Amino acid sequence: SRVVRRFGTSSAAEKIISPSVQVSYTQLLIDGNFVDAASGKTFQTIDPRTGEVIADVAEGDAEDIDRAVKAARKAFDEGPWPRMTAYERSRIMLRYADLVEKHSEELAALETWDNGKTYQQAKTAEVPMLARLFRYYAGWADKIHGLTVPADGNYHVQTLHEPIGVAGQIIPWNFPLLMFAWKVGPALACGNTIVLKTAEQTPLTAFYAGKLFLEAGLPPGVLNIVSGFGPTAGASLASHMDVDKLAFTGSTDTGKVILGLAANSNLKPATLELGGKSPFIVFEDANINKAVELAHFALFFNQGQCCCAGSRTYVHEKVYDEFVEKAKARALKRVVGDPFKKGIEQGPQIDSRQFEKVMRYIRSGVESNATLECGGDQIGNKGYFIQPTVFSNVKDYMLIAQDEIFGPVQSILKFRDVDEVIKRANETRYGLAAGVFTKSLDTANRVSRALKAGTVWVNCFDVFDAAIPFGGYKMSGNGREKGIYSLNNYLQIKAVVTALNNPAWI
Ligand code: NAD
Repeated sequence: SRVVRRFGTSSAAEKIISPSVQVSYTQLLIDGNFVDAASGKTFQTIDPRTGEVIADVAEGDAEDIDRAVKAARKAFDEGPWPRMTAYERSRIMLRYADLVEKHSEELAALETWDNGKTYQQAKTAEVPMLARLFRYYAGWADKIHGLTVPADGNYHVQTLHEPIGVAGQIIPWNFPLLMFAWKVGPALACGNTIVLKTAEQTPLTAFYAGKLFLEAGLPPGVLNIVSGFGPTAGASLASHMDVDKLAFTGSTDTGKVILGLAANSNLKPATLELGGKSPFIVFEDANINKAVELAHFALFFNQGQCCCAGSRTYVHEKVYDEFVEKAKARALKRVVGDPFKKGIEQGPQIDSRQFEKVMRYIRSGVESNATLECGGDQIGNKGYFIQPTVFSNVKDYMLIAQDEIFGPVQSILKFRDVDEVIKRANETRYGLAAGVFTKSLDTANRVSRALKAGTVWVNCFDVFDAAIPFGGYKMSGNGREKGIYSLNNYLQIKAVVTALNNPAWI
């Protein structure tokens, strides 16, 4: 391990709420060892608060993916992981969850440093969810079993639920630890081995999380982690002939590429969690103050960098003007700044590319004559901070109402009645999530059943739990992660049919 730089000893230390943290793991985790990339190449991971380099990280490419897949294959074909009792697998995962809790402050601080999200959020929401998820799937490990199938009385038929083999997993940068957990948890519970490729913007926490797995007693080769870029490391993983299953989270465009690579290699099944443009619908009977607060949270949480962000806020015409006034006032109060400091609600965007993209969409909103209520500019001249931005008078045809912005930009649209808003909410290529805010049970039931979205939150938003499935309709992806549903992604079902009653040929 190498120490690259300490964080948290600045003069403003009294306001910093995280402990000092150091970067200890910057090499690929292959077969239980931290190793350099075969090429010796590295790339820089950046602190989004300043644009400065945090650390040089091993840049894995095709050769490293191949090494990692070979290690995972050997661990699957010959190693103890798929062969040990499910109870022992469960024990290792539970021990891991304990270690996550023990190291929660380092994990959270590293996540904040590499990603820019607030330390408060990382510490109180994401790291606890990481531990919770591994405990949840540890609970499943010894409850995965086949069935006895009633068939023709001359045969005994049973199904075996077998692990699928080597799982290739590719994750994005917006929730690095959570995406790690959603992918790794169910795959391990089912007895698979893994090659995981992290996002190039946020390689640091997965290495730390991987190190804790070794400490928990996970056998070498079961979890391999390769940092690197999409078109090199990612594409080689997606097209590798010895990877049995692929799980991807990222943009819809990349999802299409991934599916093509999977199909054109060994036809490995692929689950995809992609982008979204989720409606958040406020009916006229709603408590406006609460609706404003929840809609604000639904959009601005995690700097607006959520695949399920409530990025089309539909408000009934009777309460529209009041809502817009209050949404603007709330956005103006949002506290933006160093995510390590106390009381900060919003940190920087992840990098200059995303920053530029969000600024382009803000310009597009202005040019298309939406009303810019507040925000719209960069904050400071260092790092990637953007003012909380609110547009009113947004129309469905505008780019800001159609594309995923992935930033702190709220678009408020007006509607007249239930049928109209259902139709408009569904007129999108995406279908990841939706929010409905109303006091009427009839409206809530009607709308939640009519929306084409993988999750509908009624009078709440962004409620996540290890047990709740998550995934998209339409171009937001296929398959579901978390809950019981994710297990199916990592299992093969074999039917064993045994003849009874002295068949004629014996
Ligand atoms: P991205 O698609 O560019 O990158 C995601 C991952 O794919 C990264 O690890 C990247 O290196 C890799 N990748 C890129 N090109 C590749 C290629 N040609 N072959 C193989 N791998 C490749 O997405 P992003 O901009 O990093 O992430 C933001 C997007 O992710 C948003 O659109 C967001 O909605 C989506 N997202 C979805 C969910 C979900 O659960 N549905 C969760 C988080 C993020």
